[in-house]
Amino acid sequence: MTEALPGKHNTPRFWNEITPDSVDANLPPTAWRHEATVNKQIQVYAQLHLLQQLMDSLPACISYIDQNRCYQYANTTYQTWFGIKPEDIYGQPLEKVIGAEAYQKAEANIDRALAGENVVYEAVMPYATGQRYVQAILVPDFNLEGGVQGYFSLVQDISDRKAAENALQRKAEREHTLWQITHKIRQTLDLQSILATATEEVQRYLGVDRTLIFQFTSDHAGEIVQSTTQSNCPIAPDAWQWQADGLRQLCHQHYAQGTVRAIPDLATEVDDFCINHWVEVTAAKSAIVVPILQPQPKGASNLWGLLIIQTCTTHRQWEPGEAELLEQVADQLAIAVQQADLLAQVQSQAQQLIATNQALEQANQQLNDLSHRDALTQIANRRYFDIVLQREWKQMGRSRLPLSLIMFDVDYFKQFNDRHGHPAGDECLVTVAQTSQRVINRATDVLARYGGEEFAVILPQTNLAGAAILAEAIRTSIRNLNIVNFETATETVHVTVSLGVACQIPNRNTSLQTLIAAADEALYQAKQAGRDRTVCGE
Ligand code: GH3
Ligand code: MG
Ligand code: MG
Repeated sequence: MTEALPGKHNTPRFWNEITPDSVDANLPPTAWRHEATVNKQIQVYAQLHLLQQLMDSLPACISYIDQNRCYQYANTTYQTWFGIKPEDIYGQPLEKVIGAEAYQKAEANIDRALAGENVVYEAVMPYATGQRYVQAILVPDFNLEGGVQGYFSLVQDISDRKAAENALQRKAEREHTLWQITHKIRQTLDLQSILATATEEVQRYLGVDRTLIFQFTSDHAGEIVQSTTQSNCPIAPDAWQWQADGLRQLCHQHYAQGTVRAIPDLATEVDDFCINHWVEVTAAKSAIVVPILQPQPKGASNLWGLLIIQTCTTHRQWEPGEAELLEQVADQLAIAVQQADLLAQVQSQAQQLIATNQALEQANQQLNDLSHRDALTQIANRRYFDIVLQREWKQMGRSRLPLSLIMFDVDYFKQFNDRHGHPAGDECLVTVAQTSQRVINRATDVLARYGGEEFAVILPQTNLAGAAILAEAIRTSIRNLNIVNFETATETVHVTVSLGVACQIPNRNTSLQTLIAAADEALYQAKQAGRDRTVCGE
């Protein structure tokens, strides 16, 4: 039974309050000295106790190892880690407590600590009770002479931190892979190369045996449109094309909501998994299947296809991050598919436009030809004659070359009509035109129907003599047709033409009208002189 000290009734007594000053002054000096010593001891024990509590409450293995590599102290965490009570650890060799394998792994660091070096290291330790990722701090304990007599050891389990770090690292890698795929997708509009990039990157990053992109070609069929495979995982010939009644609908029930299926063991997942049949054909062990969904108006989505990764020889427990990555890749693919569709549409519209333009151009050309052609004789008409004559007049003026003009007219054509009828007259005009056309041989020469039964020939870069030769050639070719015009009592008159020829080198003192007038005058002269002849003007 303890008796309360006088004057201290209501005061709680703590060891640190006990000082000579606080002790009852009535006690003899020896008595309080004795009490002070006892209190001092209590103080030390209490401190030791606190220290012990502190050591034991820390979630780390704290120990003191002597130079013989035996434990001199171990906190209670050792019991949690190694199943041995601290009191049973004292004096035990380090190797025995942590296990031979772990000891071997740590030995070099222990050597360094016992050689007087502060050592910090991280390692996966294969303890007999299980593997731990640890961080160890070894601090040497020096004696007064400076020799190492042991070391303090603090070993922390950093498995959780490492797992978090690893997860973070994996996440960063995933994001990088996704960035790479996205970047490549944006560099090209060619869908095939986008799909190829996607499967290659996914395959490389996830280290799977096979990466496939399956596209629905109808509601009942589809095919693998892109694949990257390891040599241990070839695609069987009958696995390329998939077919089943309502294939897309069946898959839709699973995937249209964006559902991702990560299947560690395909052999046990047999329910109504829509691509089961092909899983058998493709002989895979594990898979992740992700839908490639194209957003449609009104919030609907079209199941375009599936992105599938597979393992072929081993089963694989998929990580959530892996499925997540695939989902993001599938989203990028859906965008790429949509862009490619749009591009194809634009391209086909552009092609249609080109075709339409070509047809329009052709029609214009035809229209132009028609507007320049005489309907009856199919040679150039008067309008075209005017255009060409103007053009050549300027051109020859610039190059100071002669421009010749032949005007010719069918003789006694009124009689022809009277004798044979108007339709036959038309036919005769066609014959005269075609015959004359055959005589003309230069591409730049233009034969035109000037009006009625009158024709004209424009001859650029041709002098009077050359034009006269051509005129005579026309005349004889018509005469040689031997078409009967009319008969008189004494003779049979054949269809002939009279021709007037003129030539000028265009200059400031001449004009187109003078050229035409000169040719016309020459024609008149030919008529006056008896017809069926050529007259050359000035
Ligand atoms: P000349 O030798 O002086 O030229 O006598 P011509 O009878 O040929 O001359 P004229 O000017 O008196 O008559 C021309 C005739 O040509 C009158 C017209 O009916 C005929 N003619 C003009 N154009 C056509 C046509 O397109 N078809 C037909 N069948 N006849 C035409
Ligand atoms: Mg006439
Ligand atoms: Mg005439």
